[in-house]
Amino acid sequence: MDIPKRGSQPLAELHFHLGQSLEPHILWAIAHEQGIKLPSKSYEDFHDFITLNKETTTWEDYHALFHWTELIQSSPVAMERTVYEVVSGAYRSSGITLMEPGFNPMYRNRQGERDLDDIILGALRGMERALAEFPTVRAGLILLLDRRLPKEVNEIIVKKAMLYARRGVVGIDIAGPKGDGFSYDDYADLYAMAREAGLKTTVHTGEDGTAEEMRHVLEVLPLDRVNHGFRAYEDPALMELVAKKNLTLCLCPTSNMSVKFIRDFDHLREVLQTLWRGGVKFCINTDNPSMLKTTLPQELAMLREHGTLDEAQLKQTVQWAFEAAFVDRKRASNLYL
Ligand SMILES: [Zn+2]
Repeated sequence: MDIPKRGSQPLAELHFHLGQSLEPHILWAIAHEQGIKLPSKSYEDFHDFITLNKETTTWEDYHALFHWTELIQSSPVAMERTVYEVVSGAYRSSGITLMEPGFNPMYRNRQGERDLDDIILGALRGMERALAEFPTVRAGLILLLDRRLPKEVNEIIVKKAMLYARRGVVGIDIAGPKGDGFSYDDYADLYAMAREAGLKTTVHTGEDGTAEEMRHVLEVLPLDRVNHGFRAYEDPALMELVAKKNLTLCLCPTSNMSVKFIRDFDHLREVLQTLWRGGVKFCINTDNPSMLKTTLPQELAMLREHGTLDEAQLKQTVQWAFEAAFVDRKRASNLYL
């Protein structure tokens, strides 16, 4: 497999979640440090469970896992270790020099038992530690809102993102399974407020939902890029809208194929080549690397091996990822903001 050697080709990754980005043995160690009661005393069982090591995976399996990883990461110390390990590990093992992982602080405070600021500051400390050790790496954190949470709670997350915008939080996002009464329309004001405070915005759409829903989301929310959004390939007018708004789609091939939103490699080629022909910019990401046992170099090698994208197209997606970053690329370093 032609995986680029670390450092031979700088890579940028813009769409992956901290909850599913830690190596299982580190998650295991953090859980034990904090005395968290796990579903099994066996590391092998835990490893299989956390990496979805089974024949078929459902959308529900995916989200059931988040409960455990979020619980294990629910302390300032755990968040510091998590972000430190994720940022430094992605650089050391995959040569990723620019990364913007996302997490929802509200799912890491044990229903209000832990202080939200301490959780976010723990994450930022972990990022600073990693950047101090690897000064050529650029990173920023994205705070996730969730479609299951009431707007008042999501608004608190936006305000925290604004508060820490000068400390390394670079943007906001909405993720999670669709909750009762959730409407993207309700978030236009919060998105506008975040942008006014200098934050960038993205959103999960065009994945489990439809192309029509994605069009609506693009019409109501002010956006800088989109997470997933692959369903735009079904609608030429929507592709035109994505291109007109200069949005980059942060695609996750293995993630979409693992739950059969994209059926197989033929389907994946059709999706990506249609987006390419439609003038849509996109980049490749892992979404949940540890759970899906993948890395960005592996995703790129997989697309190369299957002839999904040619060499020039692969190179272009890497370039688009750097161009779509939220981290201020004009600064020489994002240390000590
Ligand atoms: Zn995602």
